[in-house]
Amino acid sequence: MDFGLSEEQLMLKDQVRKFCESKLVPQAQELDETQEFPWDIYKHAGSLGYIGPHLPVEYGGGGGDLLAKAIIYEEFVRACFGFNLSVNAADLLFANNVLKYGTEEQKKKYLPPICKGEVLGSWALTEPESGSDALSIKSTAVKQGDYFILNGQKTFITNAPVAQYLIVIVREPGTKRMEGGTAFILEQGMKGLSTGTKFDKMGARCSPTGEIFMEDLKVHKDQVLGEVGRAFHQMFQSLDVERALTPFSSIGIAQAALDVSLKYAIERSQFGRSISEFQLIQEKISRIATGVEIARTFAYKVVWMVQNGMKVTKEAAMIKYYASRMVQHAVHDALQIFGGYGYMKEYPIERYYRDARLLEIGAGTTEIQKTIIARELVHQAKPKGDLK
Ligand SMILES: Cc1cc2nc3c(=O)[nH]c(=O)nc-3n(C[C@H](O)[C@H](O)[C@H](O)COP(=O)(O)OP(=O)(O)OC[C@H]3O[C@@H](n4cnc5c(N)ncnc54)[C@H](O)[C@@H]3O)c2cc1C
Repeated sequence: MDFGLSEEQLMLKDQVRKFCESKLVPQAQELDETQEFPWDIYKHAGSLGYIGPHLPVEYGGGGGDLLAKAIIYEEFVRACFGFNLSVNAADLLFANNVLKYGTEEQKKKYLPPICKGEVLGSWALTEPESGSDALSIKSTAVKQGDYFILNGQKTFITNAPVAQYLIVIVREPGTKRMEGGTAFILEQGMKGLSTGTKFDKMGARCSPTGEIFMEDLKVHKDQVLGEVGRAFHQMFQSLDVERALTPFSSIGIAQAALDVSLKYAIERSQFGRSISEFQLIQEKISRIATGVEIARTFAYKVVWMVQNGMKVTKEAAMIKYYASRMVQHAVHDALQIFGGYGYMKEYPIERYYRDARLLEIGAGTTEIQKTIIARELVHQAKPKGDLK
């Protein structure tokens, strides 16, 4: 395994950094205030190949690998976490599922407009009473000839208020846990489908989050994604890719926090000296920098494992857990370096502090990651005869 990025990958990182510094960074604070998704930047990013860089060229993607996606992902987050949260729901959660389980028609129809940055997609599992216990969802699909009638509600769905295309996971009435789940691709404007107004959130504020309501929503069987009754089996198979990328949200925010706090520490003087000369400030800088470096190195390893077809259930949970804890310490330390200025909206650290909090909740909470790690370890350690 090569730990360094290739010339080409370094060039990509540099280009995306420049794009973000000129387009996204100057607007990030305002987007946080207005809670508006920046469609113009999304489209611009699409025209440069930064949306769906890992998707096949024949469906409008960049034809690159997951590492290319990880590099762009981290740079987008470093500039504006909310922007990337929405991009990720479209070109990873929505698009990867269509790519893996969709028919040729579905791929040709739904992937190119996303890669061009023209439309957003959503992937909806969570319901008001089903969060961590995802297999307890209650929304239903009843077969009626060539159609299915969908009823139920989804909540906390990234992009739902503005997404053109939405994958929803629902179940056949009476089925439980892993059985009876089916995924459907819905389109805005369908009769019986509505998405409420966006929630007012603590962080990631330019990424619209909301609900999906399905009331006797009649959906043709051509809109089924993958196999009827197999949605949960499909979901667990495609989770590895998504989980491997999520830690780059933590890494991107922590890197941003490091960059601004290092600059500030050098420029700020107290007691007649730059505060960067005080050992207690240096301690914080070294702690943030070390956390970022360790998290990124392990995150690259997990991406490498996915690309090489290896199972990463335990490793992806480990890096999600580690990186999302690491970033909480990083933004805490960075804000402390800023003192009172860190508490003001004048500097971006206040936004990073709020944005980072989601990383211990979304895409599986920290508690659930620990549960997965322990379950995998216990499973591996048990003598084979004892396994139930
Ligand atoms: C901004 C945002 C965007 C989101 N985007 C999407 C999206 O696009 N699509 C989607 O489907 N979902 C999305 N979600 C939902 C997200 O995945 C859930 O919020 C998350 O899975 C946790 O579920 P919950 O909020 O219902 O918390 P709960 O599951 O109710 O958990 C509450 C607390 O109990 C703990 N807990 C629960 N079970 C256990 C256990 N077995 N052991 C120990 N502790 C436990 C949790 O860790 C947590 O601390 C989003 C959420 C947010 C906030």
